Parts: sequence; C-alpha cells; structure tokens
Amino acid sequence: MSDGKHQHILIVEDEESISSFVKMYLEREGYRVTVAPTGERALAALEDKVDLVTLDLMLPDMDGLDICRQVRATSNVPIIMLTARDEDIDKIVGLEVGADDYLTKPFNARELIARIKSILRRASAPVNTSKKLVCGEIHIDAARRECLLSGEQVMLAPKEFDLLWELLERDGEVLNRDQLLEKVWGYTFAGDTRTVDVHVRQLRKKLGDACPIVTVWGSGYKVGAEVNAA
Ligand code: CA
Repeated sequence: MSDGKHQHILIVEDEESISSFVKMYLEREGYRVTVAPTGERALAALEDKVDLVTLDLMLPDMDGLDICRQVRATSNVPIIMLTARDEDIDKIVGLEVGADDYLTKPFNARELIARIKSILRRASAPVNTSKKLVCGEIHIDAARRECLLSGEQVMLAPKEFDLLWELLERDGEVLNRDQLLEKVWGYTFAGDTRTVDVHVRQLRKKLGDACPIVTVWGSGYKVGAEVNAA
C-alpha cells in the first residue's frame, strides 16, 4: 500500500483512445489497471478488490451517475468522475452521489495521476493512525476510517471522511475553501471550490443536526462544537 505499487485502478470508459492512454500512464506509474468499457463490466470488475475508480459519466449501457450510486450503496472505494462536457450539473450531482473528485475532458494525464495519488495517499494512510475524535454524538476513528453517529455507522465517501476529519482535527480553526482543497484533495493550484461546498452539504445531510460544521461567511468552514480525543 505504501507507494502505490500494485494498487488496482479500474478505468470505466467506453472510448478506447482515452482508456488506452490512461492505462498506459497508470501502468507506467506501477499501478495494476483494469478497463471496463460498459457499466455492466464495471460493476462486475468491482467484485474484485479495487483501490480507486475513474468513472466516465456517458457509457453505452448505463449512466455513470447510476453506477456511482450503486457502488456507494456498499463501498467507499475512491471515485474520480471524468465528465465529457463542462456541465456543472453533472459534476455537482456526481459529487452528491458520492464521487470524490472530478476532471473535465479533455484532461491532462499528469493531472489525473496527481489526483489519483493524492486520493490514494489519504485513503491508505490516515493523518494519525491511532487517533479517534469525539464531537457530540459523532465518533470518528482515523485508523478504521469509520464515522459513528449515536453508535450507528455512517457511510461516508473517502473525501467526505477526510474533510470531516480535517475540520475536527483543527478544532474550531476556520479553513477557507482553497485551504481545504489543498489539504483534503491535494490540489496545488486553485481548483473548483464548489467541490468543498458539495461535500459539506453531503456531510450535513448524512449527519443531520449532529453535523458540527459551521459556515463562516466570506471565509470558509470551521467546527462549531467541542472536539475531544476519544
Ligand atoms: Ca463515454
């Protein structure tokens, strides 16, 4: 798990010119790659252990958003959406149904690899492996990447988990959207800060009144409740 070697990436993409190009780049980085050109083959491939999925939204047999929903019902594998058009609605819905990040086609292979590495680094190596935090009814365990609400497990997508963790760990410090993109998504340049907003919205939806994240108008987000080590 350490340096990405032999991690398994599933490329869900029906355009052979794109999938073969991405596959070549990823294999060169030492990843094991499977290509699924249809939704049906993607879901079959996910029965195997997969460490990350890149998901094209327009597939011949299924809508990528439906695949994302189906995967999220049972799995928290990281998902990067690849959207064909620069359509905002697709990106936002994609993040709402549990994708962790997105890239708009045409994209640069190096940028995709940077995003993949950033997600896998966080997914396989939590900030502090022995740490557990409590905030009201929320218990969060970094090593197990688990979030409990009143003792019940809440299914969080990887970046939802990372975002909640980052804010809880900062214990009331305000972080702006660019800082959160950099810390949680690993962006080294200004990205689309709505990614942060959509993830906060999802956390609020999933955690309800127990969600401690407060919007600081004109600044960013912070945790507005007491956080303690568990
Ligand atoms: Ca397509």
